[in-house]
Amino acid sequence: MRLPGVGEAGQLKLKSAKVLVLGAGGLGSPAALYLAAAGVGFMGIADPDKVDLSNLHRQVLHGFDTLGLPKTISAAEALSEINPGLQIALHPEGFTVENAAELAARYDLVVDGTDNFATRFLAADACVLAGKPLVHGSVLRSEGQVGVFLPGAGCYRCVYPVMPDASAVPTCADAGVWGATCGVVGSWMAAEVIAVLIGQRTHSRLQLIDIAAGTARVVRLTVDSACPACGRQPTIRSLEKSAYQPTTCPTAPRSMSEHPLEVSIEEAARLLASAQPPVLIDVREPSEHATCCIACAKLIPMASVPERLKEIPQDVPVLIHCHHGGRSLRVTQFLRAKGYTQVSNVQGGIDAWSQKVDPKVRRY
Ligand SMILES: [Zn+2]
Repeated sequence: MRLPGVGEAGQLKLKSAKVLVLGAGGLGSPAALYLAAAGVGFMGIADPDKVDLSNLHRQVLHGFDTLGLPKTISAAEALSEINPGLQIALHPEGFTVENAAELAARYDLVVDGTDNFATRFLAADACVLAGKPLVHGSVLRSEGQVGVFLPGAGCYRCVYPVMPDASAVPTCADAGVWGATCGVVGSWMAAEVIAVLIGQRTHSRLQLIDIAAGTARVVRLTVDSACPACGRQPTIRSLEKSAYQPTTCPTAPRSMSEHPLEVSIEEAARLLASAQPPVLIDVREPSEHATCCIACAKLIPMASVPERLKEIPQDVPVLIHCHHGGRSLRVTQFLRAKGYTQVSNVQGGIDAWSQKVDPKVRRY
């Protein structure tokens, strides 16, 4: 209550809030613990799984004494220890196409810490349709993301329009994750939930965290007018079971890309000057390309990327650039969701190139 912007009014907002946590796992654990500790009044926990020994390094809600129990029950016990006044609703059936709309309507905010794309996209669409904010988190190895998606301000599908195949992206269980990375991302999610509930967030945004590199950066989002969920002509108007079939995990998941999501302008210059340079793609508009370009970059304006996927090679490294690095990051994430594991964004775009690599390239 002593924090600026919180006070008694903010604390009462938390007390009256109903928050639904999807997944009592690596992200849901720290998120739920801090939300309970912060005084959130009502929490739903949706998770169909049971506590397994292999969970314990990251799923800090659970312990040896709850091995084999449903995670909802194990979570409720731990949360009640911290905040006996917390009202808890258990949803051991998980968050499904059948109950998603009803659950999203019943809560004020959804926190998604699930680790599969079917549930992630289901949560995103259910929140758009119900007009509820979504705080999303994901982790892999030492990298994580925290997304805050406010109604009418840009949704998960504005960034990731299409659900990828499970084979394109490994899960934590397959690829491994640092337990503490889950702690960082899950705690960050809790902080965002609290900020949204007390009215401190006005924009949708995506935070990209790389523990190994020691970096975090934020990308401010806006509504993508072509978004299938919240765009000008949305195609997702209801939750259809066929759209969220849990994609089956392959027996031998393709290894996660060793290519970073982003490269610095200096690294891009080094790679392009190497013996086997990556393919460079410019996603700006033709008029911008005409003003200046980085030598021999192929032009595919952002809006035409979805229908020109065939022109982007999947089996060699690809660098994507734009003016300042925002559009190209969005395209890079779109391509990664499509299974392009060797695609990286060029930080700072052509403007950084002009300033740090080649001053002959015109700035605008
Ligand atoms: Zn959207």
